[in-house]
Amino acid sequence: MAITSRRKGVRQGDPLSPLLFNIIVDMLAILICRAKENGQISGVVPHLVDDGHSVLQHADDTIIFMENNFDQAVNMNLLLCAFEQLSGLEINFHKSQLFCFGEAKNQQCIYSQIFGCGMGTFPFRYLGIPMHFRRIKNDNWKEVEERFQKKLCAWKGKMLSVEWRLVLINSVLSNLSMYMFSFFEVPREVLKKLDFYRSRFFWQCDEHKKKYRLTKWSILCSPKDQGGLGILNLDVQNKCLLSKWLFRLINEDGVWQQLLRRKYLRHKTITQVEYMPGDSHFWSGLMNIKPDFLRLVRFQLGNGAQIRFWEDTWLGNMSFKRQYPGLYNIVRKKSASVSTVFRSNPLNVAFRRSLVDNNLSQWQQLVARVVDVQLHDRDDRFIWSLHQNGMFTVRSMYRALTTNEVPHHHVIWKLKIPLKIKVFMWYLLKGVTLTKDNLARRRWKGSVRCCFCNLDETIQHLFFDCPNAKFIWRLVQVVFNLPMPLNVNDIFTNWLNGVNKKLRYQAWVGACATLWAIWLSRNDVVFNKAQVFSSLQVIFRVTHWIRFWALLQKEEGRPPIMSGCLALEVAAMECFASNGWLFSNRIAHV
Ligand SMILES: [Zn+2]
Repeated sequence: MAITSRRKGVRQGDPLSPLLFNIIVDMLAILICRAKENGQISGVVPHLVDDGHSVLQHADDTIIFMENNFDQAVNMNLLLCAFEQLSGLEINFHKSQLFCFGEAKNQQCIYSQIFGCGMGTFPFRYLGIPMHFRRIKNDNWKEVEERFQKKLCAWKGKMLSVEWRLVLINSVLSNLSMYMFSFFEVPREVLKKLDFYRSRFFWQCDEHKKKYRLTKWSILCSPKDQGGLGILNLDVQNKCLLSKWLFRLINEDGVWQQLLRRKYLRHKTITQVEYMPGDSHFWSGLMNIKPDFLRLVRFQLGNGAQIRFWEDTWLGNMSFKRQYPGLYNIVRKKSASVSTVFRSNPLNVAFRRSLVDNNLSQWQQLVARVVDVQLHDRDDRFIWSLHQNGMFTVRSMYRALTTNEVPHHHVIWKLKIPLKIKVFMWYLLKGVTLTKDNLARRRWKGSVRCCFCNLDETIQHLFFDCPNAKFIWRLVQVVFNLPMPLNVNDIFTNWLNGVNKKLRYQAWVGACATLWAIWLSRNDVVFNKAQVFSSLQVIFRVTHWIRFWALLQKEEGRPPIMSGCLALEVAAMECFASNGWLFSNRIAHV
């Protein structure tokens, strides 16, 4: 039942009145709470919300929930009358609506008499959002569409210059729909229509005159530094706005979080739960955008209760399931949490078969990696990887989802290296380099194993996480006192923060050479069946390319590059001489 209360006693226009109004309306919640404690009324869905849910309130928009029970309905009616008397506010029963579900539907006339208000129809509005127990139909989006259209008629587009049209499209037109966008996944057809209105306004200026469209709408929607006009991409914005709910669901506590967790998550984590038929419109929207969201977060280990040991990504850039598929296949409890696994020493993991050969060495490798991991006395958290403080922002996600291409002013294009290498780097940044995982996505049938170690080959693995790559980056770290880069993007963003400009330029050239050398070595093993290879050879390949490209640099820049190469080679050889040919630095036979 929805009630709207009218102000009375509180003078309109008084700056204090909204505040006073809120204080008084809070009284209603307190009254209901007390009645509930005394058993005079009871809330709904007690299995989802502690003590059952009774009231949703925001300013003068209120929804009261109750069980199908006449006595309680009479009690509630009395309580509302008492509230009117106490507060001096008036509850407008004629404007309120009654909704009955299940068996209560047969008795809705009686309820209607008790409260003196009519039956409502779906969808009704609460705080401007259409509410329905079913999916919001496309018809319900008409209002948004109409608002778009109305605005477009009012502005005489043809009188405006392109700049002003852009400002209007971005600031007003796009924001018109944001409220609805932040609650529901918007249907394709609706998005298409909204884009149609926006694009018509941009190109045609008004409804009657036709003009040619010079470029694709999608290009206009790309960010300005990528040659677009920065018009808001509504589809992406919708995803980002919904992601905010996911982040808050995991990291915050409250009534709605409790309700969603109990209804949809139960004993699962957000990474485990999947869309199920019958899920609400809101929840199915969250499930659909989940993959995009999870791509950009990582777990921060607390007590390990929420993180699955094998299936979630919490150490390294992939789940253990993907890093050690052989072990995962034979482990007994596949969805065990980190806390259960760490409960005992040795680790609380049981396999269906005894570990031999490759599986045994993989297991030893895994154990060595987790041996230093400490559990903490706090909840596990999701960390937003695009923001330094780990907090989610719609803006950063929007930026990440719209930045598919390397901007043309990107530093890569300014480096003095062969164009072929620049394009290679560009592909790496776009994540489309044909590593084996990308090949597999194109229905290529072959082993996806890395040729340097036994894990799956991905861009991230081959160039950063593989023991071979790690050895090289660590050497760079030791010799040049530079941090180890996290990924390709990191190289051109945060990696060299604080390093002076000249050195930074040389480090970039060096990083390109490193990535290129790793790629060539990998191709040698994969395509030319090169036999035993070592990381030392890869390093000599790196210095070879750096020396070669030094010819393209300014003359005064060459000597430090040459001496840098030498220092790297010397350090690499010393390392090999003292440690011998470590197995992990050797490239396996293919
Ligand atoms: Zn590898």
